[in-house]
Amino acid sequence: AIEIADLHKYFGQNEVLKGIRMTVDPGQVVCVIGPSGSGKSTLLRCVNLLEVPTKGKVFVDGVELTDPDVDIDAVRRRIGMVFQQFNLFPHMTALQNVMIAQQRVLKRGKKEAEVVARENLDKVGVGAKCDAYPAQLSGGQQQRVAIARALAMNPDLMLFDEPTSALDPELVGDVLTVMRKLAEEGMTMLVVTHEMGFARQVADRVVFMDGGVIVEDGEPAQVIGDPQQERTRTFLHRVL
Ligand code: ATP
Ligand code: MG
Repeated sequence: AIEIADLHKYFGQNEVLKGIRMTVDPGQVVCVIGPSGSGKSTLLRCVNLLEVPTKGKVFVDGVELTDPDVDIDAVRRRIGMVFQQFNLFPHMTALQNVMIAQQRVLKRGKKEAEVVARENLDKVGVGAKCDAYPAQLSGGQQQRVAIARALAMNPDLMLFDEPTSALDPELVGDVLTVMRKLAEEGMTMLVVTHEMGFARQVADRVVFMDGGVIVEDGEPAQVIGDPQQERTRTFLHRVL
């Protein structure tokens, strides 16, 4: 579970998150939508401490990340993150990309890391591409390798920051299918996305952010289908 209480983030004088309060319960999928610059990525990055919150509290499974004594590496190990850019190592095969953090961070042996890597590459539908290098894979395949890499670490929750935004339109569906499957298996997921179809069908809740605040938070049918706030309506008119 993720619990965020009165989260503020400044970059210099610029207040980018202005008191965010939200929760993601175990097994829930929450989609965050909102215009460019509204603070969506910053919010996600505060949940795994890629950014340090200026004020407020963030809890992951009851552990307070904002406690100065927290073991950041231990917390991060339980959180998988997938970015818009896949960030695979170009000089390593798909298999090696999925093995490396298991070996370095979890200290798994080579055999075990390979078994887990193959399982997860199969799971996301790129099991046949184990020996391919990133440059030999489509964007959709690369992103699925990146998802497999995150899953191989056995995370308790997954953060996705616009995972399909860099993909050609015909490749988006494969990645969303994998994410939908993860959701059905009960993974706790916080997903920044512009894919309103996905948000409608898969999310338990949709959060609309604008200007560093949460403007609306509710069921997808409500926030996307029947928004209560003018700002939400204006945004949806632009993207739908
Ligand atoms: P997009 O949809 O374009 O990805 P976003 O909602 O993810 O936008 P953020 O990336 O969270 O928005 O950025 C929110 C604001 O914070 C922007 O004004 C941005 O310029 C600023 N910002 C983000 N990261 C930094 C940083 N490392 N240093 C200074 N300012 C930053
Ligand atoms: Mg962003």
